Amino acid sequence: MLQSSIIGIGSIVPKLHALNADLHCHSCVSDGTLAPSEVARRAAAHGVQLWALTDHDEVGGLAEARAAAATLGLRFVPGVEVSVTWAGETVHVLGLGIDQHDAALMAGLAATRGGRQARAREIAAQLAAAGIARAYEGALTYVGNPDLISRTHFARFLVEQGYCRNVSEVFERYLSEGKPGFVAHRWARLAEAVGWIRGAGGIAVVAHPGRYAFDDAQMWTFLAEFRDAGGEAIEVISGSHGAGEQERFEALARRFGFMGSRGSDFHGPGEGDVELGRVPPLPSSLAPVWSRLV
Ligand code: AMP
Ligand code: MN
Ligand code: MN
Ligand code: MN
Repeated sequence: MLQSSIIGIGSIVPKLHALNADLHCHSCVSDGTLAPSEVARRAAAHGVQLWALTDHDEVGGLAEARAAAATLGLRFVPGVEVSVTWAGETVHVLGLGIDQHDAALMAGLAATRGGRQARAREIAAQLAAAGIARAYEGALTYVGNPDLISRTHFARFLVEQGYCRNVSEVFERYLSEGKPGFVAHRWARLAEAVGWIRGAGGIAVVAHPGRYAFDDAQMWTFLAEFRDAGGEAIEVISGSHGAGEQERFEALARRFGFMGSRGSDFHGPGEGDVELGRVPPLPSSLAPVWSRLV
């Protein structure tokens, strides 16, 4: 009896690891280019078996995403990617398996979105001073949701206008810290964001930890604070991770006892070479965050 249940567990765990889970991507409700239902179709077409839509600071696409996933037979996880300011840096925290109607989460996300319009005007003013006219109006033509105007929309406009060859180059030359179109912004606090997510029944996950310019000591402090606030997982596998980062964050996840997550961070066809469902498998040493989501 005992032996057969152990064998039973052993056969479930590898199957869970092998599941093609893509738990991080965007629709035009934030800074992606496809509608939620189009993202669902594309995820299914690329073999995704468990899918979360995680728009920035916004859950307005989840109803359409859920309905589309249901018609496709695709298992769906409601998600969000919350913008956070920690130690003066922007970091992103995913909320997976959230109740999208939770009042405190809704209020927190609305407050987090709140400053985007004013920030966009400032970005445009700085770009105008650098010789790029009417960037606010230009960015707006790429925006699906005016509350969610983001640097990505400016980047697409600057590429269209021929200032840069691609979105990454725009970030490098104009939109990152120290560059002529960068405007510092205060997003949600770390403990606040984790609290909203947990309060809405979700799991808080550090998104693309390899993207943050932290040295080892800062990363350690950040992850410790995240864990103490109630954070439970980190995105070890991300479409925006480079060589070596998977190993670094696998080791850190083990040290902190975090579950591992996996997501492409897909924003649209032709935006980088990231594709839904096409990232490496989660290392077998880590418990998949989706063991709590299936
Ligand atoms: P925002 O929330 O307005 O500050 O915009 C952040 C978004 O810009 C991120 O979610 C990414 O989609 C995009 N982004 C940030 N840095 C880069 C980069 N170096 N290259 C391309 N896209 C980037
Ligand atoms: Mn984005
Ligand atoms: Mn992000
Ligand atoms: Mn993202």
